[in-house]
Amino acid sequence: MTHSLPAHASVVVIGGGIMGCSTLYHLAKMGVSDAILIERNKLTSGTTWHSAAQVRALRHSRNLTRMIQYSVDLYSQLEAETGQNVGWIQKGSLSIATNPDRLIHIKRQEALAHAYGIDATSISADEARERWPLMNAEDVLGAVWSPDDGRVSPSDVCAALIKAAKGLGAKLFEDTGVTGILTENGRVRGVETTQGTVMCDAIALCTGLWSREVGAMAGAEVPALACEHFYLLTKPIDGIVGNTPTLSDHDNHLYIRDDSGGLLVGCFEPMGKPIAPGVLDETFEFGLLPEDWDHFEPMMMNALHRLPALETAEVKMLLNGPESFTPDGTFMLGETAETRGLFLGCGMNSVGLASGGGAGMNLAHAIVHGRTAYDLGEADAKRFAPVFNNIDHLMARAPEILGTHYDIAFPGKQLSTARSLRALPLDTEYQAAGAHMGQFYGWERPLYFGKTKDPRLTFERPDWFENVRAEVMAAHESAAIFDASPFGKIEVQGPDAEAFLLHSCAGFMGRAPGSVIYTSVLNERGTFESDITAQRIAQDHYRLFVGTAAIKRDLAWFRRHAEGFDVTLADSTEDYAVLGLMGPEAARIVADCGAPELNNLGYFKVGPAHIAGKHVRAARMSYVGEAGWEITMKSENAPAIYAALTAAGARPAGLFAQTSMRIEKGFCAMGHELDSDVSPIETGLDFATRKKGGFIGAEALAERRANGAVPQVVSLKLDDVAAVPLGHEPIYLNGEIIGQTTSCAFGYRVGAPVALGHVHGAIADGTRVQVDIARTLFDATVVIGPLFDPNGSRMKG
Ligand SMILES: Cc1cc2nc3c(=O)[nH]c(=O)nc-3n(C[C@H](O)[C@H](O)[C@H](O)COP(=O)(O)OP(=O)(O)OC[C@H]3O[C@@H](n4cnc5c(N)ncnc54)[C@H](O)[C@@H]3O)c2cc1C
Repeated sequence: MTHSLPAHASVVVIGGGIMGCSTLYHLAKMGVSDAILIERNKLTSGTTWHSAAQVRALRHSRNLTRMIQYSVDLYSQLEAETGQNVGWIQKGSLSIATNPDRLIHIKRQEALAHAYGIDATSISADEARERWPLMNAEDVLGAVWSPDDGRVSPSDVCAALIKAAKGLGAKLFEDTGVTGILTENGRVRGVETTQGTVMCDAIALCTGLWSREVGAMAGAEVPALACEHFYLLTKPIDGIVGNTPTLSDHDNHLYIRDDSGGLLVGCFEPMGKPIAPGVLDETFEFGLLPEDWDHFEPMMMNALHRLPALETAEVKMLLNGPESFTPDGTFMLGETAETRGLFLGCGMNSVGLASGGGAGMNLAHAIVHGRTAYDLGEADAKRFAPVFNNIDHLMARAPEILGTHYDIAFPGKQLSTARSLRALPLDTEYQAAGAHMGQFYGWERPLYFGKTKDPRLTFERPDWFENVRAEVMAAHESAAIFDASPFGKIEVQGPDAEAFLLHSCAGFMGRAPGSVIYTSVLNERGTFESDITAQRIAQDHYRLFVGTAAIKRDLAWFRRHAEGFDVTLADSTEDYAVLGLMGPEAARIVADCGAPELNNLGYFKVGPAHIAGKHVRAARMSYVGEAGWEITMKSENAPAIYAALTAAGARPAGLFAQTSMRIEKGFCAMGHELDSDVSPIETGLDFATRKKGGFIGAEALAERRANGAVPQVVSLKLDDVAAVPLGHEPIYLNGEIIGQTTSCAFGYRVGAPVALGHVHGAIADGTRVQVDIARTLFDATVVIGPLFDPNGSRMKG
């Protein structure tokens, strides 16, 4: 082992758990031979050493699944590569269902597995019991068998990764604690440690449950908090011979497998126990937390029901270890918004071993190549509103997230803790109108109106179905108000505003003041970083409207590309409310409310006006396919304007109505149809890019065009009006999977369930396909273009 720290390393990895070890290994593989890993105690001494270390490949999205498949491939070949046994045991996993909704859930997972190329098969309760003879299968309705899942020895995996990394020049420094992070002009410059200072160009922050505090050393927000996490170990019992598959009894919050001839029974109980920061300090080395039998008792009862043999088993221990959780249950990966060169690889939400191989590869990729190997937007380090870094909110939310780990993935389910963090300017009005709220980037947004009670959780038609229909029909037949206030807003001002946006955006940014410009924001590969709408307010002033959850990410991205331009960028999100007034009555309503001149505004034009005596800027455009304006106003003026619009006949509509109408119109959305794996060509948005180039990503886009890339986003209309697609369902043509749905809803204006989807290649309008919803195939028709008002004559007025 090397004892003296180098004066400089290209990359310093902090933390010697699975994330740090995997990141160091991949950095070395990618040629960063001077990378070092600094661990304040010994390798794996945080959470990794006591992990149950199951590796289940299937996740809710293609790329998270792909990432874990990478882990499986890595772990299964590490011994051959390094000579170090990693304890890889591939005995499969068995997910049982004991209620009809869980059965649908696991069948949806099976369908998804097929789309992602993972082996998964439905089996009967009897077949399940054959695979797990100790199981009481009385109440089991069915199961899904996944033969490729496995488990590893966490310490051995880390040892193998470090051995290979060292062989490539990387170095490990144990017993070396990072005590400070040096920054200069918002960029990391080095780390201070108990053994001296190391200057560096980048840091991989892989410090597990301590990540929030270590991130704070560099001024970065890292909203992750530890909770206690339990598994029971028994002494050897009769009936356990060799290794078993993992038995997932998620209705009872349990996972079960063999361990040294006995049983390991782990749980994700409905509400976990949070651990306040500071309780576990640097002396927590290979540490465990006290057993808590009272807390575990309900889980024990569940386990006794499933495994009667437990009754007579001798308990070895109730292991209680800390694990960190994030506000949405997905880890954080990539560069922080606050500090350049500081990359997060933490908040693993109890799948750190399963994810570690692939997540470490992607983190190294992000550091070396400036991007992950494939889109991991759902794990982006910049996706959380600052309010979530607040310790009270984390203490409330993290235990709930632990409890949701095995939840049935019901559509529209909302979390109940850490709510009411950010109120819309019209919150009081919406509460009065009976809004049912959902949380987005901390904001409470109306999902629908007229039903405040929590909805019945179901995979069938929801109980708010008619409420949303009424809102859609208001927008279609009279007028509705859609609140777009949480959209991120960025003021771009200065003499170089136009030049800067021509450089950073692919759209026609040079249009005259008074124009609205839809544009994609691309990276060097010509794929999406964001898609935004810009209003050109003056020659030297644009207002950009970005996705609600994208403000931190987009603002950081624009700031990083503004070097050399004489512009200022400011976040004005909370200064302005935005109300979309949409529908055939909208024209009359604005006239009644004092702004008849808005009716002379052309499509995609923006102009000033006064509504209810208050200054507004109204943009003639529509996200829902009906004629109207998106009206921007000072937040404090929103109540007066809303009162005038509703008095003139408009009614509020929620997010579910807007989504249904968006899908009918074929409008793509970031995180659904658009991400950093696809370009405007594949998504049918190339009409809005400048073919002459001159923007980031132009060359790559031109190359894709020359190579014959074609649009691959299609609309789908399902035949069966009772079908309820939710998104991610495989699309079949002649028995082969040709794509997946990306956004789904009931289309009230077209009278059928509708979807947008990605298909793998060109497909003709009118092609008949099938959509796999929980292993039932539903006939559907492919439509190229919007399902509703394809020429846009309604919205253009
Ligand atoms: C009971 C239990 C069962 C689990 N079962 C599974 C499972 O079946 N499958 C699965 O995939 N996952 C499982 N997990 C989760 C998994 O173990 C974790 O997600 C994973 O180990 C986290 O790894 P990490 O590298 O992020 O953090 P850690 O392993 O905690 O590593 C972080 C390291 O950073 C070091 N560090 C912190 N601060 C500093 C500093 N200032 N300077 C230097 N070093 C520092 C710490 O000493 C520590 O070694 C389980 C977790 C628990 C608790």
